[in-house]
This record gives sequence, C-alpha cells and structure tokens, in this order.
Amino acid sequence: DNAQPKKPDWIRVKAPVSEGYKQTHKIMRDNKLVTVCEEAGCPNAGECWSQGHATMMIMGDICTRGCTFCNIATGKPNALDLFEPGRVADAVAKLGLKHVVITSVDRDDLEDGGAEHFAQTIRAVRHRSPETTIEVLTPDFLKCAPEVLEVVVAAKPDVFNHNLETVPGLYPSVRPGARYFHSLRLLQRVKELDPTMFTKSGIMVGLGEDKQAVHQIMDDMRAADIDFLTIGQYLQPTPKHHAVDRFVHPDEFKAYEKAAYGKGFLMVSATPLTRSSYHAGDDFARLREN
Ligand code: SF4
Ligand code: SF4
Repeated sequence: DNAQPKKPDWIRVKAPVSEGYKQTHKIMRDNKLVTVCEEAGCPNAGECWSQGHATMMIMGDICTRGCTFCNIATGKPNALDLFEPGRVADAVAKLGLKHVVITSVDRDDLEDGGAEHFAQTIRAVRHRSPETTIEVLTPDFLKCAPEVLEVVVAAKPDVFNHNLETVPGLYPSVRPGARYFHSLRLLQRVKELDPTMFTKSGIMVGLGEDKQAVHQIMDDMRAADIDFLTIGQYLQPTPKHHAVDRFVHPDEFKAYEKAAYGKGFLMVSATPLTRSSYHAGDDFARLREN
C-alpha cells in the first residue's frame, strides 16, 4: 500500500520570499547555474538563500543514475560546459560566500566521471575568492580508474564530502548502481591522499533502516576516518519516489548526535531538516575558530 505517514509539526517549511532569496535566485539564473536547493526542492531554501548560502550543481541537471529518493532527472547528460567553472567562480564572488558547496550529478558517461571538471571549478573559485572555503560533494566515481580521485584531492578543497545516503541493507532499493563499501573506501582514500583534508558524509533516516544499522554506519565511517556527519529526515519528493517509512522523532536525532560525538566525529548535524549542505559554512567556521 502507498499510504504515507503524516508529516509531523517538526517538519516545517518556510516559504522562500525574502529579498536575499530573490537576489540569490537572480545571480544563479544570470550565471546559468543549477542549484540543488531548487532541483531537490530542499525545505531549507527560504532560510539558506536569504543568507546567500546555496549549493551549486555542476555538469548539468541530468544524471546517469536513478536513486529512488532523488528528484533529479535520469537520462543522457548534457555535454560538459567548459565555461561553467568560471561562472561558478563568478557567482561565488557576487554572492560573497564564505563557504560554498559544489556538487554534481553522476557522470558515468565520462571517463574521469567529471573529476577534472570538479578540479577546475575548485581552482576557479579559489583564484577568484581566496578567502572562501570550498566543500565538494562528489559522486562515487565507481566506474572510473582509482586515480581520478587524486585529481579532485590535488585541487585542495577544504572539505571532501560524499554521502553514503543510507544503510547497506537498503542500497538495492534506495541507491541501486552504488556500492556501500566502495563509497566508504573513497572517503578513506581521500584521507590517505591528504590527511589535512576534512572528510564528510551523510545519511537520511526514515527510509526503513533500524537504529542498530545507523550506529553501525557511524562505526564504519569512523573506521574510515570520516570527520563530519550529517543525518536528516528523508522526505519523499513525489509519490513515485521511495516511500517514507517513518518520521524520526527529534529526540532520536539528538540521541544519534550524542552517540556520534562519542564515537569521535568532529562535527555532527542530526536534525529532521539537516541536509548535507545545511549550515555547512557556519559549522565549518566555528570548527576553524576552535
Ligand atoms: Fe540548498 Fe543545502 Fe540549504 Fe538545502 S540545505 S537550501 S540544498 S544549501
Ligand atoms: Fe540523484 Fe546523485 Fe543519485 Fe544522481 S547519483 S540520482 S544526482 S542522488
């Protein structure tokens, strides 16, 4: 049956109406950039955009994968736009971002999975806005030679993020085409290649996982030396997407956060509305001050 649990009060979404929101929208449109905030219908867009924080998605808006939680179109992707890194750098400068998150669709059609394009984008932003900290949220590069990861790491993003998304038992139904241990190992290799780089990963809850498996995933992440963790409530983008199994209570999120700090993560965000990029800049700035 398709009956979905009712949305509780703690999932509240603010309408995006502020001047800051409109300005961010204009800069993105003028620079022909795609944002995850819009593509994923993120519930935090009103808040983030009014503060000039956004997550840019490079390499087009068509993905070669079809994760069942994700609202991005699957199909044959657009050709790479060689001017895109410059436009991202321009938007970051115009928005005056202190911290930018750059992500992409999965590009199984490209031999390097888009690694060089990521590196060029990092370098372009660094050149134009040397004070801005850069976080990349990359695909898994599953079909590429292992060396492509070195190309992204060599461009020196401040934070290397790759989401495990869910517990291994749910991969076949949630993230078909991905491999849990491959993704985990990817982050471990980033740390081996550059021990000064912060690594980060995240999962969604409410997809059908049990608590035990969430604790196991945290242990797996720590064993792979992952520094930052995000845990948020899964929301179904359309009725065709993976069903919501349950709405996890805020107290359960608090318990995950406490457990995660106990396991040694440096920074944890675990709330119903946590997204991979939610408040990423503030949290990172705080960490660097300490
Ligand atoms: Fe965009 Fe991330 Fe904020 Fe959502 S949480 S609006 S994806 S920056
Ligand atoms: Fe969406 Fe990323 Fe999966 Fe593509 S790889 S369908 S963009 S979650």
